[in-house]
Amino acid sequence: MLSSRSAPAVPVITLQSGLPGPRVLITAGVHGDECVGVGVIFSLLELLKTELRAGLVFLAPSLNPEGLRRGTRCLPGDERDLNRLFPGDSRGGLADRHAAAVWEELRDRRPDALIDLHTDSCASIPYALVDRCVRPRADANLIEERAWALAEGSGFTALAEYPPDLYRRYQLDRSLTGAMMNLLGVPTVTLECGPRRLLDPAAVEEATVATLGALTALGLCRRPAPRHPSHLGPGRFRRDAGPRCAAAGVLRPLLGPGGRFAAGDALAEIRGLEGQRVERLRAAESGVVIALPERGWVEEGAVVATVALPAR
Ligand SMILES: [Zn+2]
Repeated sequence: MLSSRSAPAVPVITLQSGLPGPRVLITAGVHGDECVGVGVIFSLLELLKTELRAGLVFLAPSLNPEGLRRGTRCLPGDERDLNRLFPGDSRGGLADRHAAAVWEELRDRRPDALIDLHTDSCASIPYALVDRCVRPRADANLIEERAWALAEGSGFTALAEYPPDLYRRYQLDRSLTGAMMNLLGVPTVTLECGPRRLLDPAAVEEATVATLGALTALGLCRRPAPRHPSHLGPGRFRRDAGPRCAAAGVLRPLLGPGGRFAAGDALAEIRGLEGQRVERLRAAESGVVIALPERGWVEEGAVVATVALPAR
């Protein structure tokens, strides 16, 4: 007899400790070309057999299996960012429908927390991102504080997401973590680690340690993460866009990932093809370079670096 239960939208593996505790969802690969998280989940499958002390863990190694197969960020056949479409729409386009199916699959696990694994650029420091509760909720502050505890538990540099105006403009409340936080009140963290496109062994190791640290902050493990060398120290920071260039040209960064700068310091310059300097881009306030664009040529208006600035 045929089962009436339809096939799952994406693979989800359940690990039970046998003791009461939070239900934690760990997801990877919503951007199909970001592979480090897939490797982290494979490592966790082994490690959590002995490390899981309490609660329940749901592991979703790939939220975009077709993107993983083809090495594409988006769902093949739909150029929109899947991670801006949650909770999805079962009557919409290809990516809306996939987002809806994934959302249902994950929401039905009734998670108490979500750790979503991503990678930024090949030139970036690892960091832990905390979403913003931008919809009116009485418990908004409490949820954000729980999310900060997860981020700080990872040992990575913890950053608040873009300021609320940019957060909304970039539709980050419709990312998986943003939607889980804003619609369901789930504390979430995004770990950004490693280069894309391969299961880089060093990045997989770093992000696995960070994930175990976040699980430890929730009481599921006893493996606190040491502070990663990229950690920025005391005080809270936010992710923000660095300066934008006024002209197209060759992007020559002057400061690498982790580089600190003061207001007025030059972060990058734009040069013409014969080497002539077209523009020099300076920081408006002091901060740290988080990531550089993966390109040698930029068009007018491009952001020349992602930066961490004091939180607001
Ligand atoms: Zn991503």
